[in-house]
Amino acid sequence: MKALRIALVGGRGRMGTALSRLAAADNAQIVAAFGANDEITPRKADVLIDFSSAAAAEQVCAAATEAKIPLVIGTTGHSAVERHFVEEAAQAVPVVLASNFSVGVNVLFALAQQGARCLGPGFDVELVEAHHRLKKDAPSGTAKTLAEILQRELNLTNARHGREGMVGERRKSEIGIHSIRGGDIVGDHTVIFAGDGERIELTHRASSRETFARGALRAARWIIGQRPALYSMRDVLGI
Ligand code: NAD
Repeated sequence: MKALRIALVGGRGRMGTALSRLAAADNAQIVAAFGANDEITPRKADVLIDFSSAAAAEQVCAAATEAKIPLVIGTTGHSAVERHFVEEAAQAVPVVLASNFSVGVNVLFALAQQGARCLGPGFDVELVEAHHRLKKDAPSGTAKTLAEILQRELNLTNARHGREGMVGERRKSEIGIHSIRGGDIVGDHTVIFAGDGERIELTHRASSRETFARGALRAARWIIGQRPALYSMRDVLGI
């Protein structure tokens, strides 16, 4: 089978390094890797994968659109404007945008949605995420995705990022989101459904970046041949 040719933005970062390490063993080849000051030229690649910085979104999207190659974005922390570049690109080429490529977290997304449906508005929902000390954005992209799912499901209009001082009683419309940063934590996410007299906690812990890299490779193989649209990892996994 022909090796999958990958152009990689953020090739020297933590995720870029994990992906490069995995590629050869997974019949894939990094044909080009780009850093912060490089021009992105992915013409000889089958797919462009981005694990860099949200600020690169405009350049990454333009490169994929011009070269007409599918795009897999793992970068998190996009602003509304940066997200708009991604949505525009998805009209021209297929794009997978995933805040988390691990199979387990995508099952957590499905379980959180199911939990919200079953438990309903009688339970308060809080999210806790923990990451290594070098992570730049907060809350994590994964926590944002979880919050979006739960907000939509339970009509929680009020996202509350941490609490301090006389904040008053918790409102029914609230979803609390809390970020912990320290050490080398790869990525933990917990959804807490707290009711009267009982609570459910759903936790996912990633222990290796290889999990994300493997998922990104899976997304890269899946997206080739798809029609232009914005896809999620749940589309890739069919869950
Ligand atoms: P990192 O800081 O180790 O690496 C980022 C790399 O991108 C660096 O080498 C940096 O020089 C480069 N870079 C920065 N700006 C750039 C630009 N404009 N153009 C090209 N390259 C640029 O970070 P990391 O831990 O590898 O994470 C990278 C991104 O991936 C973050 O947004 C992180 O949240 C996200 N991430 C996503 C997943 C997932 O499963 N989707 C998993 C882990 C991390």
